[in-house]
Amino acid sequence: ELLALVEDQEEDQEDSEKPDRSRRPLPGPGGVTQEVVERKRAETPLEASRLRYLWVTHLAAQVWCEQKMVYQREHPELGSPENAALLDLGKSIHLARELEDHDLVPICATSQEDSWAIKLLNLLLMIPALQAGQRVREFPVFGVLEGVFVVGVIDQLGYTPKGELQLNELKTRKEASMPSQAQKKKDGFQVSLYKCLFDAMVRGCLGPESFIRHLQLRPEQPLGPQVREQALHAGFTACRFQDLVELAFLNLTFSDLPPIDRLQVEYVHQETNASLGTQVVAYEEETVKAEGRYFLAYWKGQRDPKGVEVEEAWKCRHCAYSEVCRWRMARAGSPTARIRQKTTRG
Ligand code: SF4
Repeated sequence: ELLALVEDQEEDQEDSEKPDRSRRPLPGPGGVTQEVVERKRAETPLEASRLRYLWVTHLAAQVWCEQKMVYQREHPELGSPENAALLDLGKSIHLARELEDHDLVPICATSQEDSWAIKLLNLLLMIPALQAGQRVREFPVFGVLEGVFVVGVIDQLGYTPKGELQLNELKTRKEASMPSQAQKKKDGFQVSLYKCLFDAMVRGCLGPESFIRHLQLRPEQPLGPQVREQALHAGFTACRFQDLVELAFLNLTFSDLPPIDRLQVEYVHQETNASLGTQVVAYEEETVKAEGRYFLAYWKGQRDPKGVEVEEAWKCRHCAYSEVCRWRMARAGSPTARIRQKTTRG
């Protein structure tokens, strides 16, 4: 039976974002000193956020509206409470699916290195299951894109009747209908980025040194007692963090796992758990890489965040930040917007 290890008090989960320490003032009177403004200007958004890596979901959120993603990080208190409740509901549906396939073993992490050791142990447990043709859930993926470490978790990997390795991403929806093209575009980018990271991992593109350096982890750090015990239970002897990193990278590189053949997003109605349909995503490597490069340019401070284009201004109507959004205000006042408005009205 498959087991999945979960950190007892996982603080750093995808989709459960904590307030960003790079919080910036919203428009209007604010008590920010010139010194603070200057310091913020000198730091890139990635440095200011104090994140050592980005989640795939950060970049996917930029597909919908980059400015909104920035507000969500800097001012989560202005977000809609209804969205938080929907996120919780979505998480419980994911958990129920996960428990269909394996039991969860809570592990106490005593350091940052332990948190990553738990992810690596899960990888070590899932590689042989995949090699044996089984389905696995919550597969961790990571890699370096444009010099930035990016991390994600694949909902499900399994094989089709034709023997293709298929990624299945579960999305839960409040409405009992398939999503808009704009939502599908965001989800398509997310699963394409997962494939990009997974394929690079099984090709051995990322080395243990690069992994440790990007995450600023201590290779000599002794593993906590519960992590050591679980490693032993899984048949691995590891005392220091580096032991486990080397084991994980060796196993990945020599696993002979194929690249992902098929990308699929499955939509489920939150209230009834009924399937609403699936979207098969065509993978275009160059497009995904170019989009990733563009989104990461914001994090690296190479350009300002961007809101939605006039054609997608309908997104602003449902946005919790529309009252404070600088981008929307600037667009409403721009001559182009006024001309377009006038033309539309005839
Ligand atoms: Fe983006 Fe519009 Fe929301 Fe501003 S109001 S954050 S442009 S969706």
